[in-house]
Amino acid sequence: MSADYDLAIIGGGITGLGVARAAADEGKSVILLERGELCGAASSASLRIIHGGFRYLQQCDVQRIIESVRAQIRLVAEYPEFIKPLQCYMPLQKAGLKSKYPVSAAAFLYRAIYRMLSGKEQSLRARVVSGDAVESEVPLLTGKCSYGALSWQDAYIEDFSGLVETLEKELREKGVEVCERSNVQNVTYADGYYSLQTSTDLYRSKQVVNATGAQIGDEAFATGPSVADTRWAKGFNIIVNKKLLESGRAVGIQSDAGRLFFLCPRDEGTAIGTWYVPVKEVVKKPEVVGSEIEAALREIAELFPDVDLSSRDVDYTEAGFLPMSGVQNGEPQLVRKERVFADQLFATVLSTKFTTFQLLGQKTLLQVSKKK
Ligand SMILES: Cc1cc2nc3c(=O)[nH]c(=O)nc-3n(C[C@H](O)[C@H](O)[C@H](O)COP(=O)(O)OP(=O)(O)OC[C@H]3O[C@@H](n4cnc5c(N)ncnc54)[C@H](O)[C@@H]3O)c2cc1C
Repeated sequence: MSADYDLAIIGGGITGLGVARAAADEGKSVILLERGELCGAASSASLRIIHGGFRYLQQCDVQRIIESVRAQIRLVAEYPEFIKPLQCYMPLQKAGLKSKYPVSAAAFLYRAIYRMLSGKEQSLRARVVSGDAVESEVPLLTGKCSYGALSWQDAYIEDFSGLVETLEKELREKGVEVCERSNVQNVTYADGYYSLQTSTDLYRSKQVVNATGAQIGDEAFATGPSVADTRWAKGFNIIVNKKLLESGRAVGIQSDAGRLFFLCPRDEGTAIGTWYVPVKEVVKKPEVVGSEIEAALREIAELFPDVDLSSRDVDYTEAGFLPMSGVQNGEPQLVRKERVFADQLFATVLSTKFTTFQLLGQKTLLQVSKKK
Protein backbone atom coordinates (compact mmCIF):
# COMPACT_ATOMS: atom_id res chain seq x y z
CA MET A 1 0.00 0.00 0.00
CA SER A 2 1.21 3.52 -0.68
CA ALA A 3 -0.39 6.75 0.50
CA ASP A 4 0.51 10.43 0.76
CA TYR A 5 0.06 12.50 3.92
CA ASP A 6 0.83 16.01 5.11
CA LEU A 7 2.39 14.64 8.27
CA ALA A 8 3.65 11.24 9.40
CA ILE A 9 4.31 10.73 13.09
CA ILE A 10 6.58 7.90 14.15
CA GLY A 11 5.81 6.73 17.69
CA GLY A 12 2.41 6.47 19.35
CA GLY A 13 3.37 7.37 22.91
CA ILE A 14 1.65 10.32 24.54
CA THR A 15 3.91 12.73 22.61
CA GLY A 16 2.93 11.26 19.24
CA LEU A 17 -0.74 11.42 20.22
CA GLY A 18 -0.32 15.10 21.20
CA VAL A 19 1.33 15.99 17.87
CA ALA A 20 -1.31 14.04 15.92
CA ARG A 21 -4.11 15.88 17.67
CA ALA A 22 -2.56 19.31 17.06
CA ALA A 23 -2.01 18.50 13.36
CA ALA A 24 -5.52 17.08 12.87
CA ASP A 25 -6.97 20.21 14.50
CA GLU A 26 -5.14 22.23 11.81
CA GLY A 27 -6.76 20.16 9.09
CA LYS A 28 -3.66 18.21 8.06
CA SER A 29 -3.87 14.65 6.77
CA VAL A 30 -2.00 12.63 9.37
CA ILE A 31 -0.72 9.09 9.80
CA LEU A 32 0.55 7.83 13.17
CA LEU A 33 2.81 4.76 13.09
CA GLU A 34 3.39 2.88 16.34
CA ARG A 35 5.49 -0.29 16.45
CA GLY A 36 3.63 -1.78 19.44
CA GLU A 37 0.52 -0.53 21.22
CA LEU A 38 -0.36 3.10 21.78
CA CYS A 39 1.26 4.47 24.97
CA GLY A 40 2.83 1.07 25.65
CA ALA A 41 6.40 2.31 26.36
CA ALA A 42 7.57 5.15 28.69
CA SER A 43 4.07 6.65 28.68
CA SER A 44 2.61 3.59 30.37
CA ALA A 45 5.37 3.69 33.02
CA SER A 46 4.37 7.17 34.13
CA LEU A 47 3.46 7.47 37.78
CA ARG A 48 0.35 9.11 36.29
CA ILE A 49 0.60 12.37 38.18
CA ILE A 50 -0.61 15.35 36.18
CA HIS A 51 1.77 17.87 37.75
CA GLY A 52 0.54 21.39 38.33
CA GLY A 53 4.11 22.70 38.41
CA PHE A 54 4.47 23.70 42.08
CA ARG A 55 7.96 22.19 42.16
CA TYR A 56 9.21 24.57 39.43
CA LEU A 57 8.97 27.43 41.95
CA GLN A 58 12.21 26.10 43.40
CA GLN A 59 13.87 26.80 40.03
CA CYS A 60 11.96 30.12 39.64
CA ASP A 61 10.74 28.76 36.29
CA VAL A 62 7.52 30.76 36.00
CA GLN A 63 6.95 29.78 32.36
CA ARG A 64 6.91 26.08 33.24
CA ILE A 65 4.58 26.70 36.17
CA ILE A 66 2.17 28.54 33.88
CA GLU A 67 2.37 25.78 31.24
CA SER A 68 1.81 23.06 33.84
CA VAL A 69 -1.11 24.81 35.53
CA ARG A 70 -2.78 25.39 32.14
CA ALA A 71 -2.14 21.78 31.07
CA GLN A 72 -3.57 20.44 34.30
CA ILE A 73 -6.67 22.65 34.22
CA ARG A 74 -7.32 21.64 30.59
CA LEU A 75 -6.85 17.90 31.11
CA VAL A 76 -9.03 17.76 34.23
CA ALA A 77 -11.77 19.70 32.40
CA GLU A 78 -11.58 17.63 29.17
CA TYR A 79 -11.22 14.15 30.64
CA PRO A 80 -12.91 14.19 34.08
CA GLU A 81 -13.91 10.50 33.81
CA PHE A 82 -10.24 9.46 33.72
CA ILE A 83 -8.30 12.24 35.47
CA LYS A 84 -9.15 12.95 39.10
CA PRO A 85 -7.98 15.49 41.69
CA LEU A 86 -5.14 14.35 43.93
CA GLN A 87 -4.55 15.93 47.33
CA CYS A 88 -0.82 15.65 48.06
CA TYR A 89 1.10 16.03 51.31
CA MET A 90 4.81 16.48 51.90
CA PRO A 91 6.50 16.71 55.32
CA LEU A 92 8.49 19.90 55.78
CA GLN A 93 12.03 20.13 57.10
CA LYS A 94 13.31 22.02 60.14
CA ALA A 95 15.43 24.49 58.13
CA GLY A 96 16.29 25.39 54.57
CA LEU A 97 14.22 25.80 51.41
CA LYS A 98 11.83 23.02 52.38
CA SER A 99 11.00 24.51 55.80
CA LYS A 100 7.82 26.29 56.88
CA TYR A 101 8.46 29.95 55.92
CA PRO A 102 10.03 29.53 52.45
CA VAL A 103 7.35 26.96 51.57
CA SER A 104 4.55 29.22 52.86
CA ALA A 105 5.86 32.03 50.64
CA ALA A 106 6.08 29.65 47.66
CA ALA A 107 2.52 28.45 48.30
CA PHE A 108 1.28 32.06 48.40
CA LEU A 109 2.95 32.78 45.05
CA TYR A 110 1.63 29.57 43.50
CA ARG A 111 -1.92 30.34 44.58
CA ALA A 112 -1.59 33.79 43.00
CA ILE A 113 -0.45 32.26 39.69
CA TYR A 114 -3.25 29.70 39.85
CA ARG A 115 -5.83 32.39 40.56
CA MET A 116 -4.55 34.47 37.65
CA LEU A 117 -4.81 31.53 35.21
CA SER A 118 -8.01 29.90 36.42
CA GLY A 119 -9.90 32.94 37.66
CA LYS A 120 -10.66 30.92 40.81
CA GLU A 121 -9.60 31.49 44.39
CA GLN A 122 -8.54 28.12 45.82
CA SER A 123 -7.12 28.24 49.29
CA LEU A 124 -6.62 24.45 49.24
CA ARG A 125 -4.47 24.63 46.12
CA ALA A 126 -1.22 24.97 48.09
CA ARG A 127 -0.73 25.74 51.77
CA VAL A 128 1.25 24.80 54.83
CA VAL A 129 -0.70 22.72 57.36
CA SER A 130 0.06 21.43 60.84
CA GLY A 131 1.41 17.95 61.47
CA ASP A 132 -1.72 17.01 63.46
CA ALA A 133 -4.00 17.97 60.58
CA VAL A 134 -2.00 15.80 58.17
CA GLU A 135 -1.85 12.78 60.46
CA SER A 136 -5.62 12.63 60.69
CA GLU A 137 -5.89 12.79 56.87
CA VAL A 138 -2.95 10.50 56.07
CA PRO A 139 -2.07 8.08 58.91
CA LEU A 140 0.96 6.92 56.88
CA LEU A 141 2.64 10.25 57.78
CA THR A 142 2.16 9.84 61.54
CA GLY A 143 5.28 11.12 63.32
CA LYS A 144 6.77 12.53 60.08
CA CYS A 145 5.39 16.08 60.13
CA SER A 146 6.91 17.65 63.27
CA TYR A 147 7.64 20.81 61.22
CA GLY A 148 4.29 20.83 59.42
CA ALA A 149 3.57 19.77 55.87
CA LEU A 150 2.89 21.22 52.48
CA SER A 151 -0.56 20.29 51.22
CA TRP A 152 -1.28 20.91 47.54
CA GLN A 153 -3.68 19.83 44.86
CA ASP A 154 -2.53 17.96 41.78
CA ALA A 155 -4.35 15.47 39.58
CA TYR A 156 -3.74 11.90 38.50
CA ILE A 157 -4.83 9.52 35.80
CA GLU A 158 -7.07 7.08 37.59
CA ASP A 159 -8.03 5.15 34.44
CA PHE A 160 -5.01 5.06 32.13
CA SER A 161 -6.34 2.69 29.46
CA GLY A 162 -9.66 4.56 29.38
CA LEU A 163 -7.80 7.81 28.71
CA VAL A 164 -5.64 6.30 25.95
CA GLU A 165 -8.65 4.66 24.26
CA THR A 166 -10.49 7.99 24.30
CA LEU A 167 -7.52 9.88 22.87
CA GLU A 168 -7.27 7.29 20.09
CA LYS A 169 -10.99 7.46 19.36
CA GLU A 170 -10.83 11.26 19.12
CA LEU A 171 -7.91 11.03 16.67
CA ARG A 172 -9.74 8.55 14.44
CA GLU A 173 -12.85 10.76 14.49
CA LYS A 174 -10.67 13.64 13.29
CA GLY A 175 -9.46 11.53 10.37
CA VAL A 176 -6.02 10.51 11.69
CA GLU A 177 -4.89 7.11 10.41
CA VAL A 178 -3.68 5.32 13.53
CA CYS A 179 -1.55 2.24 12.78
CA GLU A 180 -0.41 0.06 15.66
CA ARG A 181 2.14 -2.74 15.16
CA SER A 182 3.79 -0.65 12.42
CA ASN A 183 7.52 -0.51 13.03
CA VAL A 184 9.20 2.17 10.90
CA GLN A 185 12.46 0.67 9.69
CA ASN A 186 13.72 3.37 7.41
CA VAL A 187 13.03 6.99 6.42
CA THR A 188 14.37 8.50 3.19
CA TYR A 189 13.81 11.84 1.46
CA ALA A 190 13.43 12.56 -2.27
CA ASP A 191 11.45 14.96 -4.46
CA GLY A 192 9.78 16.81 -1.60
CA TYR A 193 8.51 13.69 0.17
CA TYR A 194 9.69 11.50 3.00
CA SER A 195 9.19 7.76 2.47
CA LEU A 196 8.60 5.69 5.58
CA GLN A 197 9.12 1.96 5.27
CA THR A 198 7.53 -0.53 7.65
CA SER A 199 7.84 -4.31 7.21
CA THR A 200 4.69 -4.37 5.06
CA ASP A 201 3.97 -0.85 3.81
CA LEU A 202 5.54 2.27 2.35
CA TYR A 203 4.06 5.67 3.24
CA ARG A 204 4.87 9.07 1.74
CA SER A 205 4.56 12.28 3.69
CA LYS A 206 5.55 15.95 3.28
CA GLN A 207 6.52 16.30 6.94
CA VAL A 208 7.75 13.88 9.60
CA VAL A 209 7.81 13.96 13.39
CA ASN A 210 10.00 11.45 15.19
CA ALA A 211 8.32 10.89 18.59
CA THR A 212 9.89 7.52 19.34
CA GLY A 213 11.05 8.32 22.89
CA ALA A 214 14.29 6.49 23.69
CA GLN A 215 14.55 5.37 20.03
CA ILE A 216 14.84 8.90 18.58
CA GLY A 217 18.53 8.35 17.81
CA ASP A 218 18.02 5.10 15.81
CA GLU A 219 19.84 4.71 12.49
CA ALA A 220 16.45 4.50 10.78
CA PHE A 221 15.87 8.21 11.44
CA ALA A 222 19.27 9.49 10.24
CA THR A 223 17.56 11.73 7.65
CA GLY A 224 16.25 13.81 10.58
CA PRO A 225 18.14 16.20 12.87
CA SER A 226 21.04 14.73 14.82
CA VAL A 227 20.19 13.74 18.39
CA ALA A 228 23.13 11.37 18.79
CA ASP A 229 24.31 12.90 22.09
CA THR A 230 21.07 12.20 24.00
CA ARG A 231 21.67 10.09 27.10
CA TRP A 232 19.09 8.05 28.98
CA ALA A 233 18.17 6.91 32.46
CA LYS A 234 15.82 4.08 33.31
CA GLY A 235 13.00 5.23 35.57
CA PHE A 236 10.90 2.71 37.44
CA ASN A 237 7.98 2.47 39.87
CA ILE A 238 6.88 -0.42 42.01
CA ILE A 239 3.23 -1.19 42.55
CA VAL A 240 2.36 -2.92 45.80
CA ASN A 241 -0.88 -4.70 46.59
CA LYS A 242 -1.36 -2.80 49.88
CA LYS A 243 -3.58 0.26 50.00
CA LEU A 244 -1.37 2.67 51.94
CA LEU A 245 -3.46 5.75 51.13
CA GLU A 246 -7.10 6.66 50.76
CA SER A 247 -8.27 7.25 47.19
CA GLY A 248 -7.43 10.71 45.91
CA ARG A 249 -4.53 11.25 48.35
CA ALA A 250 -0.80 11.09 47.69
CA VAL A 251 2.40 11.58 49.63
CA GLY A 252 5.68 13.12 48.51
CA ILE A 253 8.64 12.39 50.76
CA GLN A 254 12.40 12.82 50.68
CA SER A 255 14.61 9.88 51.59
CA ASP A 256 17.79 10.21 53.68
CA ALA A 257 19.74 10.02 50.41
CA GLY A 258 17.86 13.15 49.24
CA ARG A 259 15.62 11.39 46.70
CA LEU A 260 12.05 12.54 46.38
CA PHE A 261 9.42 9.79 46.18
CA PHE A 262 5.73 9.81 45.59
CA LEU A 263 3.21 7.29 46.86
CA CYS A 264 -0.05 7.39 44.88
CA PRO A 265 -3.17 5.27 44.84
CA ARG A 266 -3.20 2.69 42.03
CA ASP A 267 -6.33 0.55 41.68
CA GLU A 268 -6.56 -1.48 44.91
CA GLY A 269 -2.89 -0.89 45.82
CA THR A 270 -0.22 1.82 45.84
CA ALA A 271 2.27 2.99 43.22
CA ILE A 272 5.62 4.15 44.58
CA GLY A 273 8.28 5.91 42.54
CA THR A 274 10.28 7.01 40.84
CA TRP A 275 13.76 5.46 41.02
CA TYR A 276 16.29 6.37 38.32
CA VAL A 277 19.29 4.39 37.07
CA PRO A 278 21.71 5.68 34.40
CA VAL A 279 21.97 3.30 31.41
CA LYS A 280 24.58 2.95 28.67
CA GLU A 281 22.13 1.79 26.04
CA VAL A 282 18.40 1.63 25.62
CA VAL A 283 16.53 -1.61 25.02
CA LYS A 284 13.05 -2.20 23.67
CA LYS A 285 11.55 -3.28 27.01
CA PRO A 286 13.41 -2.11 30.12
CA GLU A 287 13.34 -4.61 32.99
CA VAL A 288 13.46 -3.96 36.74
CA VAL A 289 15.70 -6.62 38.26
CA GLY A 290 15.27 -8.29 41.66
CA SER A 291 18.17 -6.39 43.27
CA GLU A 292 16.62 -3.06 42.23
CA ILE A 293 13.28 -4.06 43.78
CA GLU A 294 15.03 -5.16 46.98
CA ALA A 295 16.95 -1.86 47.22
CA ALA A 296 13.75 0.10 46.59
CA LEU A 297 11.92 -1.83 49.33
CA ARG A 298 14.79 -1.17 51.75
CA GLU A 299 14.54 2.56 51.04
CA ILE A 300 10.77 2.47 51.67
CA ALA A 301 11.33 0.52 54.92
CA GLU A 302 13.76 3.20 56.12
CA LEU A 303 11.18 5.90 55.42
CA PHE A 304 8.20 3.97 56.81
CA PRO A 305 9.46 1.41 59.35
CA ASP A 306 5.87 0.54 60.36
CA VAL A 307 4.88 -0.43 56.83
CA ASP A 308 5.67 -4.06 56.34
CA LEU A 309 6.43 -4.55 52.64
CA SER A 310 8.28 -7.48 51.13
CA SER A 311 8.85 -8.57 47.53
CA ARG A 312 5.73 -10.75 47.88
CA ASP A 313 3.67 -7.55 48.13
CA VAL A 314 5.00 -6.22 44.82
CA ASP A 315 2.25 -6.74 42.25
CA TYR A 316 4.31 -5.48 39.32
CA THR A 317 6.88 -2.91 38.28
CA GLU A 318 6.85 -0.48 35.39
CA ALA A 319 9.85 1.11 33.71
CA GLY A 320 10.68 3.50 30.91
CA PHE A 321 13.54 5.66 29.69
CA LEU A 322 13.88 9.37 30.40
CA PRO A 323 16.50 11.75 28.93
CA MET A 324 19.28 12.78 31.29
CA SER A 325 21.85 15.56 31.11
CA GLY A 326 24.49 13.78 33.20
CA VAL A 327 25.21 11.79 36.35
CA GLN A 328 26.12 13.27 39.75
CA ASN A 329 27.20 11.00 42.62
CA GLY A 330 25.74 8.04 40.71
CA GLU A 331 22.34 9.76 40.37
CA PRO A 332 21.03 10.65 36.91
CA GLN A 333 20.29 14.35 36.43
CA LEU A 334 17.18 14.36 34.27
CA VAL A 335 16.77 16.79 31.39
CA ARG A 336 14.44 19.44 32.76
CA LYS A 337 12.67 20.70 29.69
CA GLU A 338 11.28 19.01 26.63
CA ARG A 339 13.10 19.73 23.37
CA VAL A 340 12.16 19.92 19.72
CA PHE A 341 14.96 19.56 17.15
CA ALA A 342 13.80 20.64 13.70
CA ASP A 343 15.57 20.25 10.39
CA GLN A 344 13.66 21.21 7.25
CA LEU A 345 10.38 19.34 7.44
CA PHE A 346 11.52 16.73 9.94
CA ALA A 347 11.20 17.35 13.69
CA THR A 348 12.42 15.13 16.50
CA VAL A 349 10.81 15.61 19.87
CA LEU A 350 12.09 14.75 23.31
CA SER A 351 9.49 14.64 26.07
CA THR A 352 10.25 14.98 29.76
CA LYS A 353 6.74 14.64 31.11
CA PHE A 354 3.30 13.34 30.27
CA THR A 355 1.39 16.29 31.73
CA THR A 356 2.12 18.83 28.99
CA PHE A 357 1.66 16.57 25.93
CA GLN A 358 -1.02 18.76 24.35
CA LEU A 359 1.18 21.84 24.47
CA LEU A 360 4.24 19.88 23.32
CA GLY A 361 2.20 18.66 20.34
CA GLN A 362 1.41 22.25 19.36
CA LYS A 363 5.02 23.41 19.85
CA THR A 364 6.34 20.54 17.72
CA LEU A 365 3.90 21.24 14.94
CA LEU A 366 4.92 24.88 14.92
CA GLN A 367 8.54 23.84 14.40
CA VAL A 368 7.84 21.69 11.32
CA SER A 369 5.21 24.01 9.94
CA LYS A 370 7.34 27.15 9.93
CA LYS A 371 10.01 25.40 7.78
CA LYS A 372 8.06 25.62 4.55
C1 LIG B 1 8.98 5.70 35.60
C2 LIG B 1 8.44 6.97 35.00
C3 LIG B 1 7.54 7.75 35.74
C4 LIG B 1 7.03 8.93 35.18
N1 LIG B 1 6.09 9.64 35.88
C5 LIG B 1 5.51 10.74 35.30
C6 LIG B 1 4.46 11.42 35.97
O1 LIG B 1 4.00 11.02 37.04
N2 LIG B 1 3.95 12.54 35.37
C7 LIG B 1 4.41 13.01 34.17
O2 LIG B 1 3.90 14.04 33.69
N3 LIG B 1 5.40 12.37 33.51
C8 LIG B 1 5.96 11.25 34.03
N4 LIG B 1 6.94 10.56 33.37
C9 LIG B 1 7.41 11.07 32.07
C10 LIG B 1 6.50 10.65 30.91
O3 LIG B 1 5.98 9.37 31.13
C11 LIG B 1 7.28 10.67 29.59
O4 LIG B 1 7.94 11.92 29.44
C12 LIG B 1 6.36 10.49 28.39
O5 LIG B 1 5.45 9.44 28.61
C13 LIG B 1 7.19 10.18 27.14
O6 LIG B 1 6.28 9.94 26.09
P1 LIG B 1 6.79 9.70 24.62
O7 LIG B 1 5.59 9.53 23.78
O8 LIG B 1 7.76 10.77 24.23
O9 LIG B 1 7.65 8.36 24.69
P2 LIG B 1 7.13 6.84 24.72
O10 LIG B 1 5.95 6.69 25.59
O11 LIG B 1 8.32 6.00 24.99
O12 LIG B 1 6.62 6.62 23.24
C14 LIG B 1 7.48 6.39 22.14
C15 LIG B 1 6.76 5.38 21.24
O13 LIG B 1 7.49 5.23 20.03
C16 LIG B 1 7.37 3.88 19.62
N5 LIG B 1 8.44 3.57 18.66
C17 LIG B 1 9.77 3.47 18.90
N6 LIG B 1 10.43 3.17 17.77
C18 LIG B 1 9.51 3.08 16.80
C19 LIG B 1 9.58 2.78 15.40
N7 LIG B 1 10.74 2.52 14.78
N8 LIG B 1 8.42 2.77 14.67
C20 LIG B 1 7.21 3.03 15.27
N9 LIG B 1 7.10 3.31 16.60
C21 LIG B 1 8.22 3.33 17.35
C22 LIG B 1 7.46 3.10 20.92
O14 LIG B 1 6.91 1.80 20.79
C23 LIG B 1 6.68 4.00 21.88
O15 LIG B 1 5.33 3.62 22.01
C24 LIG B 1 7.46 9.36 33.90
C25 LIG B 1 8.36 8.59 33.15
C26 LIG B 1 8.84 7.39 33.69
C27 LIG B 1 9.76 6.55 32.87
